[in-house]
Amino acid sequence: MHVIYGGTFDPVHHGHLRLAIELKERLGVSEVALVPCHIPPHRGSTDASAAQRLKLLQLAVADEAGLVVDARELTRKGASYTADTLRQLREQLGAQEPLVMVVGTDAFAGFDRWREWERIPQLAHVVVVRRPGPGLDPQGVPAKLLQDHGISDADQLHSAPGGYFLELDPPLLDISATGIRDRILSGRSPRYLMPDPVWREIRSLGLYGACPDGNI
Ligand code: ATP
Repeated sequence: MHVIYGGTFDPVHHGHLRLAIELKERLGVSEVALVPCHIPPHRGSTDASAAQRLKLLQLAVADEAGLVVDARELTRKGASYTADTLRQLREQLGAQEPLVMVVGTDAFAGFDRWREWERIPQLAHVVVVRRPGPGLDPQGVPAKLLQDHGISDADQLHSAPGGYFLELDPPLLDISATGIRDRILSGRSPRYLMPDPVWREIRSLGLYGACPDGNI
């Protein structure tokens, strides 16, 4: 079974990495692939480029055999649509291998506005990670998908190539990339919110307004 977990990872932090480990264990796989996506160029000059986000991710998983980075969305031209990524993976994996995409409740709330969203369950299972916030509209399409195609046992994911929806409620660390960027920009330390090699690279490149000099 192949599991992908997408995000902007701007930058990657321990909240992401802990969740990836929880997913690996709860879904019974040997590996989870982190898939950095394109971000529209609207955030401001201190943000990292795609190549820099990718480098930070690679440093973050370097000593963890269970986590890998899949850069396919960054190497594809233009916007990255989940359906395209899943289609590509499905071609690689063949028709029978279970494929799982992981998404937070916040993003899943808009699932029926994603491009070609109806194709997605034909290509993969969807694991929805519960995040703090308003949750799903009980009358909306995403809630209905969970109701009609939801399973409660992760083992079932191994029994079909795709089509199931599973809600998980793993413990989440209270860390966000936005909070980290704000900290760095205001000269505060983000240490222990992310792996040290990631913070070292951010400093050496002066990303997010980090000062390259001084101690870690
Ligand atoms: P930003 O603050 O820039 O919005 P973020 O920290 O939320 O970033 P993303 O790269 O947008 O990180 O998130 C990638 C994925 O990780 C998303 O599915 C998101 O729901 C999830 N995620 C983000 N923060 C955490 C966390 N602390 N614990 C678990 N999952 C998280």
